[in-house]
Amino acid sequence: MIKPDAQFEKITDIKIEFLKEHKIKGIILDLDNTLIDLDGNFLEGIIDWIKKIKKSNIKLCIATNSISKEKISKLSKKLDVPYVYKSFKPSKKGIKQAIKILHINNSNIAEVGDQLFTDVWVSNRMNLFSILTKPIAKDRFKIDKLKRKIEQWYLSRQ
Ligand SMILES: [Mg+2]
Repeated sequence: MIKPDAQFEKITDIKIEFLKEHKIKGIILDLDNTLIDLDGNFLEGIIDWIKKIKKSNIKLCIATNSISKEKISKLSKKLDVPYVYKSFKPSKKGIKQAIKILHINNSNIAEVGDQLFTDVWVSNRMNLFSILTKPIAKDRFKIDKLKRKIEQWYLSRQ
């Protein structure tokens, strides 16, 4: 069964105290629809949130399925957070790379993302603390809308 350990409206709603409570020392961040919208704009408040997280000694790494190195390297520079791209979630490949970068035990890592069947699924299989957030932007394509409906249906059965 695919199940998030926690759910939030948006990533900036996650408090340091909550992360400390769950012994989180590192976070793997999804990019699209978690940190940025479909036009590549940052979620409001994300820069400050990332600063706060870093100040409290929680390490960060982006793991994105995006294949555009140009796009992701620019964003990662702005946030000053390392990244893994082409991570092929729900495959374990990119997440393993991100864990290596963080250099933290899996049980002390949270993975935050907006998709149940990619972000949460791989998190569950890697024994990470999975946090599901709502996508920033409304889906533009019918196929994505359908995917969301299936996710919601799946979650409501549990
Ligand atoms: Mg995403």
